[in-house]
Amino acid sequence: MEKCTINPNECIGCTACAHSCPTEAIKIQKNTEGFLSAVINDEACIKCGICFNVCPVQQGSNAGEEYKEAYACYSKNKDIQNTSTSGGIFYFIAKEILKKDGTVYGATMDENLVVKHIPIQKEEDLHKLQGSKYVQSELGDTYAEIKDRLENDEYILFSGTGCQVTGLKQYLKKDYEKLLTVDLICHGIPSPGMFEDYTAYLGKKYGGKVIAYKFRQKNPKEAQSYDTKIEIQKGAKVIEKTISGDDDPFTLNYLQNTLQNKECYKCKFASLKRLSDITLGDYWGIGEAHPDFSKGNSVSLVLLQTEKALSVWENIKSELEFLPTDKEKILKRNRQLAEPAPYNARRTDVYGNYAKGRFGHKFYFKHFLGKNMAIYLLKRKILEILK
Ligand SMILES: Cc1cc2nc3c(=O)[nH]c(=O)nc-3n(C[C@H](O)[C@H](O)[C@H](O)COP(=O)(O)OP(=O)(O)OC[C@H]3O[C@@H](n4cnc5c(N)ncnc54)[C@H](O)[C@@H]3O)c2cc1C
Repeated sequence: MEKCTINPNECIGCTACAHSCPTEAIKIQKNTEGFLSAVINDEACIKCGICFNVCPVQQGSNAGEEYKEAYACYSKNKDIQNTSTSGGIFYFIAKEILKKDGTVYGATMDENLVVKHIPIQKEEDLHKLQGSKYVQSELGDTYAEIKDRLENDEYILFSGTGCQVTGLKQYLKKDYEKLLTVDLICHGIPSPGMFEDYTAYLGKKYGGKVIAYKFRQKNPKEAQSYDTKIEIQKGAKVIEKTISGDDDPFTLNYLQNTLQNKECYKCKFASLKRLSDITLGDYWGIGEAHPDFSKGNSVSLVLLQTEKALSVWENIKSELEFLPTDKEKILKRNRQLAEPAPYNARRTDVYGNYAKGRFGHKFYFKHFLGKNMAIYLLKRKILEILK
């Protein structure tokens, strides 16, 4: 029989299918690994094939463009750089859309530490979207709202992962002149369920409730730091804690590729051909590629794929220090631009323990961090001492 419905086991939770289904037979819910994923109500499904045809995993390809121009760059404004994850470029792109009375959609972390896409219409709200949240973002009604606004001839910026941008384009089915899309070079997305458990664990560890969480807090010693900053409510008091990237099991596991959605390891959007107008990433290896450029700043990599992107660049470049760069230099240290993060077999243990509800109890380090991670950390410490 010809395949006509999506496969919930191959889902990135983008919502394109749920918004397209004529009988509303598809809901997005957390699966056993805590990821947002499509669930089909078989009784309501009429096997029309619309969901299958709109799904970015089933249909989406990297049929986009290779970049026309590529730059290493960072914001001249240090405050904007410091509130962003790399050079703060997203902020200036977003401002271009706000200047045209448009709406910017991007990922925020709300007061319950849930990562979700929200619309922003004022510059003073842009801080809500700045910074990477290394967790799958809940898209909710974002795609449907964007379509309504575009049909109403409004300017829109959508910023998200490559799969989310493809999901949006598959859902819209046509090009809109006033839509600008930004995607990120992406190492994959960890599960919101796992993140919720992890922050609950941190709350217990520090005797309170985690009320704010910032990935990759900048520190004066490291321009591209992996420190995490949290705020903990303890009675009437709020205390701040910075957890070094080397001591944070969530970050360490993410970087070791044990937390990603299963689909991320097969990601077909990790390609030099992108469907987005603009691609943003960290410029890993900037010291080697362009030795005199960073001067202690966090450097972004910006790829401009389309004419729209080139025109945005013309408007924002006066806010930036920048330098043209090339493919060979970029790919040397940023493999995720062209290929998915590699699968780590220890992922099975990590999510197996999550499903059994083991996460966060006293065997936490043993089960979650795992023996291999302990050996890895030990090796790293020894190397540091030897250096
Ligand atoms: C899950 C994830 C994995 C990444 N992996 C890599 C990588 O392997 N290599 C690399 O070079 N760069 C990676 N990045 C991108 C990098 O961390 C910076 O976001 C990027 O360089 C932009 O930096 P900026 O300073 O210009 O803007 P910032 O202000 O830091 O970027 C903010 C933008 O990121 C979006 N965003 C934040 N969290 C999410 C999320 N969970 N889902 C969707 N969109 C989100 C916001 O909507 C906003 O548009 C990743 C980002 C994310 C979110």
